[in-house]
Amino acid sequence: MEKKKAVYVCSGCGIGDALNIEPLMSIATDDYSVPICRTHATLCSREGAAMIKEDMAKEGVNTIVIAACSPRVMYDVFSFENCIVDRVNLREQVVWCQKPGEEDTQMMAEDYLRMALAKVEAMELPVPFKPEQEISRDILVVGGGLAGMTAAVEASKAGYQAVLVEKEAELGGFQKKVGQIATMPYKGLKENQVVPDLIKAVTSNPKIKVYTGATVEKSEGSPGLFEISIKQNGATAEHRCGAIVMAAGWKPYDPAKLDKKLGFGASPDVITNVMFEEKFFGVNVTRPSDGKPAAKVAFLQCAGSRDPKYLPYCSTVCCTTSLKQAIKIKAHNADAEVYVVYKEMRTPGQAEDLYRKAQELGVLFIRCQSPEVKADGGRLAVEAADELSSEDILLENLDLVVLATGMVPATAFGPDISKELLKAAEDEKKEEALDVPLDIIRRSNILNLTYRQGPEMPALRYDFPDSHFICFPYETRRTGIYAAGCVHRPMGIGSTLEDAAGAVMKAIQCIELTSKGAAVHPRAGDMTYPEFAMQRCTQCKRCTVECPFGAINEDEKANPLPQPTRCRRCGVCMGACPERIISFKNYSVAMIGSMVKAINVPEEDEEKPRIVVLACENDAYPALDMAGIHRMIHNPWVRVIPLRCLGSMNLVWIADSLSKGIDGVLLIGCQHGDDYQCHFIKGSELASIRLSKVSETLNRLALESDRVRFETVSIIDYHKLPALLDEFAERLVEIGPNPFKGW
Ligand code: SF4
Ligand code: SF4
Repeated sequence: MEKKKAVYVCSGCGIGDALNIEPLMSIATDDYSVPICRTHATLCSREGAAMIKEDMAKEGVNTIVIAACSPRVMYDVFSFENCIVDRVNLREQVVWCQKPGEEDTQMMAEDYLRMALAKVEAMELPVPFKPEQEISRDILVVGGGLAGMTAAVEASKAGYQAVLVEKEAELGGFQKKVGQIATMPYKGLKENQVVPDLIKAVTSNPKIKVYTGATVEKSEGSPGLFEISIKQNGATAEHRCGAIVMAAGWKPYDPAKLDKKLGFGASPDVITNVMFEEKFFGVNVTRPSDGKPAAKVAFLQCAGSRDPKYLPYCSTVCCTTSLKQAIKIKAHNADAEVYVVYKEMRTPGQAEDLYRKAQELGVLFIRCQSPEVKADGGRLAVEAADELSSEDILLENLDLVVLATGMVPATAFGPDISKELLKAAEDEKKEEALDVPLDIIRRSNILNLTYRQGPEMPALRYDFPDSHFICFPYETRRTGIYAAGCVHRPMGIGSTLEDAAGAVMKAIQCIELTSKGAAVHPRAGDMTYPEFAMQRCTQCKRCTVECPFGAINEDEKANPLPQPTRCRRCGVCMGACPERIISFKNYSVAMIGSMVKAINVPEEDEEKPRIVVLACENDAYPALDMAGIHRMIHNPWVRVIPLRCLGSMNLVWIADSLSKGIDGVLLIGCQHGDDYQCHFIKGSELASIRLSKVSETLNRLALESDRVRFETVSIIDYHKLPALLDEFAERLVEIGPNPFKGW
């Protein structure tokens, strides 16, 4: 498209008081020959927006630079159809964080305007991705337990068809084995009607197609276009689905793996909480060894749970389940002696009612971190050091010991094949090791994805198919596939119903955005996607291996096969590609390079080092805005360039910056590691790995690696930023002029 540019400078919100607007505008008109450049006292007002629209209509303006407030605000006002728009953040990141009227403040504003003009020059209008095949609006639900059935029902209520696949012969999942439940506020135990009601709702619903005794043999394709093969009774059924809800459930922690002192296996009368549900469904509690009534029972909480050696997390429902089971014994035999030995009782919300009720019924509670079960012939006892009374307690002649074991997600089973997958990529490309952080990918045979990056969901910790734990609680790391219920995290009935409804709403959102050619979270609505100049591809596999979302398959010659509807538009592949052949219509290696080149670098004797800050747009850039909102003055020598993700950082930007005469490059991204906050999961970690290679090279050449620094922040760290920027600037002054200038 032939670009007709216009620049609009707002003088409101203190911008006009702190800056000299005329020279700023002359940069656009004189240096960049922009034909239309206007200023307005409140550009975000109806009149301001009308002025821009009028230029679009009458003058044919189609490429606009708005120099006003942060792009994180007023985005609805400054969104114009079929128009390239960039925003210069004069308010939060210039006048609110710099001294008004100073030369350095004016220089900063002028640089940002130059950078924006260079940026729009390199930008193109996005053309939404439209697949050739018709997008399906059906939702595949894997798992016919509480979560899966709820997801299918909720999908149908929203007008979508669901295909429900359950591996067992009947619907119901684990909850089918649970005879009684306690509702809150506590009014007694009642028959578990949740599952029968849901089975009825599912099987009588014409919008839900149910396959029981069936498995997903293959999930091919991508959001909107998943081709699903379902195997049932030796036959295969095919469905095209737009999104997937994975509600594959959980399995109890294997009690045989527990510490021997908990007594599992030493006596048939030592059972788990799950075995209790299965054995005593609709019948009274008896001794498994001889069927006599159980009149003296001990429940041992956290059997292996919250213990790094076994199951490091809390399964959230074991305490309430033991209370329910204790009440069941008491309800049948008020004289029964029932003990609960606990580390801490966890009864959130109204489950506290249950705790109180058990106490009223005479259940005794012993706080002990490490009880021991003694099984000697037919005699069963528990020794417990009671922390509250400081006494050693011996519970003798027990009829039954119930171990409260935790939940393990269905994704935790099967061998971890992540190293195998990476090795397969490396073997074929022998000269270079692909240095990437590995996920856990198990061959758990739940979805059987035909993804280059593995057949199942990647997991980070404890095998839950995790995504961003703060911002995207429903998402997994495979676009269009949402986890629900206990495969997602341990949860009880109420939370499962909510979780399943949430997951299916995300699945619907994915289908609707995909059908418009737009990205899902976190860049929801983004119409761009990565484009590959394949004639220059060397089949190095960096893009396929580094994409955090499995969005690029490979053909047999190792050519990348991008799957745009799986793509989250993070740009990690763009940062990874050594040939620099991956770009987006409005985000490219060349575009950022031209922004760097647009920065005005003062002469060395001015002792005003220039610092390029490559800031992740998800946390670091908003943190800089926050510093401005709090009027925290920061270093005037920095020039911030927002990146979609630090993982999209291409090393050439560092080389370009140093050779341009920029004295230092500061990368600010999200925290990585187990408590990662990176919105694209691996981006910031990949950037840090790439950067370590630059630092190694600089050190090897005895050049100052201090010129390039990597820092992680979250939005709430905004107050640390001014000191961080000052400290980096001081270090650059210390190490002196940039020797790379002009390289
Ligand atoms: S932009 Fe991100 S999600 Fe999309 S293909 Fe590249 S690395 Fe994968
Ligand atoms: S990283 Fe670039 S050169 Fe390597 S396979 Fe991907 S597109 Fe080709």
